[in-house]
Amino acid sequence: MALTLRVAGDRWRAHLRAVADAHPGIVPVVKGNGYGFGKASLARRSAWLGADTVAVGTYVEVADVLQRFDGDVMVMTPWRPPVRGEQIPYDPRVVHTVGRTNDLLAMGEDAPAGTRVVAEGLTSMARHGFDRHALADAAAALGRLRLQGFAVHLPMAGGRLDEAERWAAVLGASKLADRLETPTLYVSHLTDTELSGLGERRPGLTIRPRIGTALWLGDRGALRPTATVLDVHEVERGERVGYRQRAMPVAGHLVIVSGGTTHGIGLEAPTAASSLRQRATSIAKGGLEAAGLALSPYTIGGKQRWFAEPPHMQASMLLLPRSVPPPEVGAEVAVAVRFTTTTFDAVTLS
Ligand SMILES: *Cc1c(COP(=O)(O)O)cnc(C)c1O
Repeated sequence: MALTLRVAGDRWRAHLRAVADAHPGIVPVVKGNGYGFGKASLARRSAWLGADTVAVGTYVEVADVLQRFDGDVMVMTPWRPPVRGEQIPYDPRVVHTVGRTNDLLAMGEDAPAGTRVVAEGLTSMARHGFDRHALADAAAALGRLRLQGFAVHLPMAGGRLDEAERWAAVLGASKLADRLETPTLYVSHLTDTELSGLGERRPGLTIRPRIGTALWLGDRGALRPTATVLDVHEVERGERVGYRQRAMPVAGHLVIVSGGTTHGIGLEAPTAASSLRQRATSIAKGGLEAAGLALSPYTIGGKQRWFAEPPHMQASMLLLPRSVPPPEVGAEVAVAVRFTTTTFDAVTLS
């Protein structure tokens, strides 16, 4: 009776194993909604993969992951001075990210001696990190904090390998590098070819890729999101249904399926009638789009079906034309989701 992620267990595990084997030193990323699996599950799975470190997005994610993973937990959002009552987790297993000299100084006052940090370089991504001119000051501000390595977060497009290498060179030549026993660079979003290219150009550097999507979601064929048919009703053309009492443009069946706004269903930009021009085109063509319905992510009888009205909190109402035989109550139907914005009721491994 739920929105369920059905996972082909053997196939998924084999994929995880292959990605981990191909990326020695991999740091699995376990953040947000846990890529649809949940963070707790991915934390345990990272241990099963033999990872010694996982990366979380934010400080609020640390406690849960520490409980389920015995290794180090790297926080990718940079440290900032704590605000009103905020408790920074200074567990010895937490590795912090820093990107501003003032933060290093403040952290030196706030954190126990020996707290581990990685220094992030500001790439063309322009999100967080030290400007390369700030590295000398950063080295002077490190004090009794322990430097664990450098980090760079690269954009998804552009000349990433060159940029990663430039940063590797700049960081390696900086005074910060004197504080590292093993020069280590944590990188995000390099392809396998770029990773090996960087490794060849910088043989002295230990490169550790932080990977989320390509690891957890890299074999989509192993993942089958499904919804349950909760109810089916016959409708006449012109019959008014739903919260909005909208008149149905055709006769057929209403199919009530699990999955609503709570799960993240319908939160993507609707594909139908998004501009007046498109709307005009579809009116010319006729069809349900012209009636102002939006295409749903649910597939019944091999086709994506229309929402009868916008998704509810935990269920959605679909309109199935009369020509299509309706599914049975209790049947499962396929639903296309964006995994990073979907909260499943259940994840089952076969
Ligand atoms: C989210 C994130 C990652 C992982 O991204 P994927 O595209 O899921 O592999 C890596 N690095 C940083 C800094 C991130 O915020």
